[in-house]
Amino acid sequence: MGEFEVIQRYFANSGRARKDTLIGVGDDGAVLQLREGYDLVVTTDTMVAGTHFFPDVDPRALGHKLVAVNISDLAAMGAEPAWLSLAMTLPKVDDPWLAAFADALSETADYYDCQLVGGDTTRGPMTFTVMAKGQVPHGKMLTRRGAKVGDFIYVTGTLGDAGLGLRLCQGQVEVSKKHSAHILQRFHYPTARLAIGQALRTVASSAMDLSDGLYSDIQHLMHRSSVGASLDVERLPLSQALKDSCDRSTALALALSGGEDYELLFTVPESKKSMLDVLLSPYGVPVTCIGRITGAAGKLELRAGNELFAYEHRGFEHFEK
Ligand code: ADP
Ligand code: MG
Repeated sequence: MGEFEVIQRYFANSGRARKDTLIGVGDDGAVLQLREGYDLVVTTDTMVAGTHFFPDVDPRALGHKLVAVNISDLAAMGAEPAWLSLAMTLPKVDDPWLAAFADALSETADYYDCQLVGGDTTRGPMTFTVMAKGQVPHGKMLTRRGAKVGDFIYVTGTLGDAGLGLRLCQGQVEVSKKHSAHILQRFHYPTARLAIGQALRTVASSAMDLSDGLYSDIQHLMHRSSVGASLDVERLPLSQALKDSCDRSTALALALSGGEDYELLFTVPESKKSMLDVLLSPYGVPVTCIGRITGAAGKLELRAGNELFAYEHRGFEHFEK
């Protein structure tokens, strides 16, 4: 099967057609109709076999995750997803693999009301690049730049589960049968916090999504906003599964440096803090205040309650033996 057949069979008519897609897959370019009064938001993520995913990963999980991590970036910008494109490099055409991959990709795209409108298909070492496009009301995007001294720092969901899931797949940790399904789900099938991202447009001073881990990601936000931050590790939201599966210091290390949680990190000025609970209660995802923005530009302070918390960040090598 050549490139043309692969595109025709698996990607040409996948998923739902949006009314604002004037030309989708099949022409030299896609033509997309932008909504009046909205700005276009564009984001790209690449996944390389052996670096970002295990070569023997379930193709359904990969198809899901590729879409979800790109939509998570749109969520962090407060955008509504609309279109995806997929640049795909494959060493060979494996039909059942491609069928499962394309099916999960289109199912996840549909879930987020997003349509695959183009891409490129080439032969070589397995690599996938997705570009997601979304729209946000003019000037209302969330960014990493608006955090101000005194703002409260929040995260959605729980932290560290995906990091534990990765180590479970690598055989570095054991997780009881009761919790392993949840942990693997969190690693393989992340959920983009889309509705929350959109709701935050009116209250958050800054936002970003957590892909590398809180400890390093928050420093990007601090840098862009020219501020510092103080976090209380005792307030980090940890799932019961994580708490039951490792000791406290490992759980905190996973929450700070494990990565791939795809939760939102955002800041809220004190004047808007009281609106948060009401605003976010319809979404059924917990949001937790974990610290405050400080004036010590570039300095990240970790506390455990009233004490300073000494922590050596080692990124994702931390757990490699
Ligand atoms: P061209 O050579 O003009 O770039 P291609 O033959 O690469 O065109 O692609 C034909 C059509 O299929 C284009 O509309 C392109 O966007 C689309 N396409 C190619 N690969 C993919 C893919 N993996 N997923 C979705 N659409 C794709
Ligand atoms: Mg091409």
